[in-house]
Amino acid sequence: MYSEDLKNSYPIFDTHCHYEDERFDPIRDELFREMHQNGVCGIVTCGCDQNSSKAAIKMAEDYDFVYAAVGIHPGSIDSGTTPEQIRELAQHPKCVAIGEIGLDYYWVSDNKEKQIEIFEKQIAIAKELDLPIIIHDRDAHGDTLEILKKHKPKGVVHCYSGSVEMAEELIKLGLYIGVGGVITFKNAKKLPDVVKMIPDELLLVETDCPYLAPEPYRGKLCHSGLIKYTAEKIAEIRGKTPEQILTLTAKNAKILYNVK
Ligand SMILES: [Zn+2]
Ligand SMILES: [Zn+2]
Repeated sequence: MYSEDLKNSYPIFDTHCHYEDERFDPIRDELFREMHQNGVCGIVTCGCDQNSSKAAIKMAEDYDFVYAAVGIHPGSIDSGTTPEQIRELAQHPKCVAIGEIGLDYYWVSDNKEKQIEIFEKQIAIAKELDLPIIIHDRDAHGDTLEILKKHKPKGVVHCYSGSVEMAEELIKLGLYIGVGGVITFKNAKKLPDVVKMIPDELLLVETDCPYLAPEPYRGKLCHSGLIKYTAEKIAEIRGKTPEQILTLTAKNAKILYNVK
């Protein structure tokens, strides 16, 4: 059913997605099986609150190549989930990161102090448990960078949308940069310049599925198999082959998340 867009023989490691989304309910088993047969060697599915974090862990238990990240998304700080609950979930052997966490001043900007407090508490948990963090930064570049400079966690800035200058700062901190389907959009603006300058060892690919399907699937339900289109675009920008980009980013993902 999905084989046509899935046909691929290179390793794909999707470093950020949301497979607990109900749109996947009727197709998840079949989709996971077909993706795994077509090169998808790793998936990190992220929580945004306690329920979605638990769902991520459940999927990681059910499928070998799926790993979980647990966290409180800045858009979910009123969900009632506490950092202590996240700390408990993070002890699971298949939890490979705290995420997604961070700041979002696009959707919610009237609770900045609370967002920063919850972000910093979760960074502390990640450092205590020696886990990387998965950072969400939307329209909050200044505060995000300040916090990252202050605490120096290891991790990835997912679906990167900032400037070349900010990327330079993140690279100095040793943080990975996650590139998603947006790179295939005509209005990707400054992202191609960023994609050109990320060092090989800090480049990652992701979907953020079910959102942000790359071209030619923009607007449709996204899944990890579609990363091959993102990789094609990155390869074109960096003067490499898609195979080289997928092999490199899968290797990087395994190092960041400490998985085999
Ligand atoms: Zn995000
Ligand atoms: Zn996400």
